Formats: sequence, structure tokens, C-alpha cells
Amino acid sequence: MQNAITKEINTTNLPDKDGNFGEFGGSFIPPQLQKVMDDVTKAYEEIVTDPAFLEELSYLQIHYIGRPSPVYFAKRLTESVGGAQIYLKREDLNHTGAHKINHCIGEVLLAKKMGKKKVIAETGAGQHGVALATAAALLGLECDIYMGAVDIKKEAPNVSRMKVLGARVVEVTRGTQTLKDAVDAAFEAYLEDPIDQIYCIGSVVGPHPFPMMVRDFQSIVGVEAKKQFKEMTGTLPDAIVACVGGGSNAMGIFSAFLDDKQVKLYGVEPAGKGLDTPFHAATLTKGSVGILHGFKSYLLQDEKGEALPVYSIASGLDYPGVGPQHSFLKTIGRVDYQSATDREAVEAFYGLSRMEGIIPALESSHAVAYAIKLAQTMPKESKILVNLSGRGDKDIDFVMENYPLVDYEPEEQATGFDEFLSHIKSK
Ligand SMILES: *Cc1c(COP(=O)(O)O)cnc(C)c1O
Repeated sequence: MQNAITKEINTTNLPDKDGNFGEFGGSFIPPQLQKVMDDVTKAYEEIVTDPAFLEELSYLQIHYIGRPSPVYFAKRLTESVGGAQIYLKREDLNHTGAHKINHCIGEVLLAKKMGKKKVIAETGAGQHGVALATAAALLGLECDIYMGAVDIKKEAPNVSRMKVLGARVVEVTRGTQTLKDAVDAAFEAYLEDPIDQIYCIGSVVGPHPFPMMVRDFQSIVGVEAKKQFKEMTGTLPDAIVACVGGGSNAMGIFSAFLDDKQVKLYGVEPAGKGLDTPFHAATLTKGSVGILHGFKSYLLQDEKGEALPVYSIASGLDYPGVGPQHSFLKTIGRVDYQSATDREAVEAFYGLSRMEGIIPALESSHAVAYAIKLAQTMPKESKILVNLSGRGDKDIDFVMENYPLVDYEPEEQATGFDEFLSHIKSK
């Protein structure tokens, strides 16, 4: 399978040269920062066709990340759900346990080629911070991670991981002391020294070129999956399902299939405690168009255009915006955006663990949850491919504490899936 790694980056004809995906995307930033972003765009355009860069990226994808990640047929899950066959693209098996390392290595390699000394970024729950600190350690660059004081307290293991990896964790004490404030602080720090540092954004969001660049670095997921799926089954999947926070793992797998109109694409947003409550982060389902963090897209915002507080059981999904290409794909009807609640995600978390021995991240569990529902509406010969964006080790303690299994006897291992789910108690 070694040749599933392309020594080229899968780019598409979008965005246009100013970073527009139809009416979305672009760049809404102060003039000083625009100059800096133009330099990043120029450097990126040079490296995407530079054989030495592509050789190094490809080497690290294979020998460091462990690519290609397998495509796996979830036979027991399929049989217990009934309906379409469910396949998984195993991004949880990457080094560091999720898809984020794919774009972090690309971004840090770019930083190095541009002669930067330091990479900086914001982090919420710490997943992006850890992935970037990993890539910075690998490639020998300094790394500053801006993190809200509240998040630092909540996410102690990831703070320790970043420190062990040699990153500096910068505590942000303004505002709500969470992700949005960390983004603001990191942008300010970037403006102060755009020569020695570069801001590495954690998803397909932010001003041009980040939505394009992060998508391109993630496109390896779709390129591999397409080839692997054809080899395994002789056809393309009928549907692809991925969870959407900022939207990078979804764009990574979708990008290779956008022109295959027979392949239905589903993005799954977090419906939290319900779409009719304020406790969700279903941006495309419930939001409206606006500008946040330098780009135009769907947002969850108040009448003044201020981002609303958002919520999901999966901290990697609770962002009030979404990548501009997703807004575009929604508008043209190419991707169907759906949602899954906390409870549905937890059931999928337990379900996949028990039926396949694979513990998914709570983020990825949203995609699994929707795929389970979708499978039941499709005939047995149909095939669904789920992007399993990460592993769930980080979520185990939280789930056991808040959604414990009650009166479950291991002898019931052989009994039905629905019965098993009835043992999951919500606190
Ligand atoms: C961060 C994260 C996500 C959400 O980010 P996207 O940019 O929407 O992909 C999804 N899954 C996992 C495992 C994550 O860590």
C-alpha cells in the first residue's frame, strides 16, 4: 500500500486566488497581517510543487505518522445495526491518535522552509496544541501554545504533554479564559512578531490561505481512502460520513470525492443537549452568515454579530464557526449537514468499543452515530465509509463518570446492541 501516499498534494480549483469559496472565506484582517498572510500564501504556492518538500512530507507521512491508515470493514457493528455496510477510515491509528498531526506536520515543515524559528497556535481542549507541539519537537522549532486559564485547569494531561514535548504553554486570562480568547491572544502575539514566528491554525478556518492549506494537507486521507476502498470492494462508497468541528477531517476525506457525484457526503455537527436548546455547536444547521477570526462563513452569533457561547460533549467540536468551504458545499447542496446529540455520540462510543474493540474519540463518535442511523435506511449491499478521526482514550474517564454502565453483566456480551445501550445511564 506504500504507493497510496501521493508525492503530490491533492489541490482543487477552489478557492480563488483571494481565498473565496463562492461568497465564503476570504481574508478580513488588519492590513499588517494581510501582508504576512500574503507571504504565507506565496511560500505555500512554492512548496506545493517543490519535489524536495513533497519528498520530505511523504517520508514523514509513512515513517512518522504511520500512513496509510487502514480502511476497515466493521462487520459486527454492521450486522448488529442492520442495513448498509459500515467501513472505517482509521485516522485514530495515526501517531498521536488523530488526524490533526496530518496538517500540523505540513504547517511546521512550511514554517521551517520559510525560515521561521517558532510556531504558535491557540488550543481549546489541547488536542491541536499537542499535535503542533509534537510536530515542532520533530522538526526542531520552538512552539508557543496559547490556552485559556480555564482550559488549562480542565485539561491538565494535555498541558503536561505539551510541556514534555518542549512547548511553552501561555496562559490567557482575559474574557471567558477559553478558546476564543486564546485565538485573540495568539493573533496579537503573531502581529507583534510575524517575522520569526508563524501562526499554525488548527482546522480549515481563519483567513486565506489556511482553509485551503489545511485542507490540502488533510487531503491525503481522502486520496488514500478512495484507492483503498476500490481495492477492497471494487467500487466507491455510496456515502461518506465525517464529524464537523472546524471541518478539517471532513474536508480531508471529502476532497477526493467531490467530483464523484454518486458518492453522498454527510457532515455531522454536534447537537449537544438538543438543537432546540442553546447547548449545541451546530453551526451550519442553526447559524447565519457572518465574519469571525478573519473569514466569512456560517456562524452561531447574536444580533450584533458576536460569536455565541457554544457547547458539545466533544471539546474538539465546540467552535462557533465552521470552515468556509463547508458553508460553500452546503450552499451548493454537495454535502448534507446533519447532527448528532451528546447521548447519540455516547451510545456510538460504547457501541463501537463493544462491537469492534475500537474506542473512538467523542468527536468521531458523532460520525459513527449518524452512520448507524443512516445504515438503517439503506439496503444491505450499500456501503458507508466513516472517517474515524481519532481515538477515545482521552474521553474514557469522562464517559465512565458521566454515562456509567448500570447493571451490565459481561455475560451479556453476546446479546443485542439495543439491549446493551439500555444499560448506559446519563448522570
Ligand atoms: C479536533 C478534532 C476534531 C474536530 O476538528 P475538525 O477540524 O472538524 O476535524 C474531530 N475529531 C478529533 C479526534 C479531533 O481531535
